[in-house]
Amino acid sequence: MTKYKLEYIWLDGYVPTPSLRGKTQIKEFAEFPTLEQLPLWGFDGSSTNQAEGHSSDCVLKPVAVYPDPARTNGVLVMCEVMMPDGVTPHVSNKRATILDDEGAWFGFEQEYFFYKDGRPLGFPESGYPAPQGPYYTGVGYKNVGDVARKIVEEHLDLCLAAGINHEGINAEVAKGQWEFQIFGKGSKKAADQMWMARYLLLRLTEQYGIDIEFHCKPLGDTDWNGSGMHCNFSTTYMREVGGKAYFEALMAQFDKNLMDHIAVYGPDNDKRLTGKHETAPWNKFSYGVADRGASIRVPHSFVKNDYKGYLEDRRPNSQGDPYQIASQVLKTISQVPTDAKVSAAA
Ligand code: ADP
Ligand code: MN
Ligand code: MN
Ligand code: MN
Repeated sequence: MTKYKLEYIWLDGYVPTPSLRGKTQIKEFAEFPTLEQLPLWGFDGSSTNQAEGHSSDCVLKPVAVYPDPARTNGVLVMCEVMMPDGVTPHVSNKRATILDDEGAWFGFEQEYFFYKDGRPLGFPESGYPAPQGPYYTGVGYKNVGDVARKIVEEHLDLCLAAGINHEGINAEVAKGQWEFQIFGKGSKKAADQMWMARYLLLRLTEQYGIDIEFHCKPLGDTDWNGSGMHCNFSTTYMREVGGKAYFEALMAQFDKNLMDHIAVYGPDNDKRLTGKHETAPWNKFSYGVADRGASIRVPHSFVKNDYKGYLEDRRPNSQGDPYQIASQVLKTISQVPTDAKVSAAA
């Protein structure tokens, strides 16, 4: 038997965006534990905005498991928060009720700022560094400093070793701003991995005395870019059948559901989706081929391939909850009849 360090990780009850929480228990297993072998556990919900002090127990239900590369015999356990009965989802537990579909693929592009001493990493104590331009995909000390890339590389290796589908990295438009991409099949699989990747980044940067700022517009109404979490998505139907008529019906439904999308695309998004800095205004839906100023960007390949493939919703922001974002995308898609459904009904 081996003693494993099980890190149970969950989302707390803070609004408008939950924070990650985690605590460790040691348990013996003959080999690396499967999800089914991991027991329910509890925590004090009165300290996480999830219960009142007089009845404070909440239950942690393991839902995904990954090796923890930073610890000897470490296990990362993604959990849902349940009521004391262990079966009723807590109101803060969005994952329990979202739409899912193994055939729906999601690629999330997480942008964020490194922060130190209350300002973006690399910003002078007062004033601003040289304006945006050289930082995006930049190289060299004056563009990216001396520590950001080291962290980003370590984070990449941690994700890959944990079996998370990390797909890439780039330095972003603002100084101190970076991006990584996570891809997953199914909304829960993709979103679990995004939350776990965020957890690994936050835990890693503790060692550097650096914070991650996930707010979508940390520098306010300035000429510094905000942070998004573009949601690239495709369903089996979009990849295999598609077509211009279906695409146009889909875009009409996205237009109709504008407010439902904005509601779950992250807080303060009106400050980011202004129409400037490669964004579309938050209150007007638009789409365009290769258009980074549209709500939804249609890749060239999509049009060339008879309107088959994936689309990029550029509106979700860096603080958004990937569970709710993916679910809303699936909800809107589900409201658009496919040829198959139409002919079945006829
Ligand atoms: P850009 O910065 O040009 O918008 P990225 O390369 O950062 O693009 O991100 C593209 C994302 O699209 C990646 O996360 C990738 O996994 C995702 N993606 C690629 N193909 C598909 C697909 N068929 N369905 C869903 N997502 C996809
Ligand atoms: Mn990108
Ligand atoms: Mn980007
Ligand atoms: Mn993008």
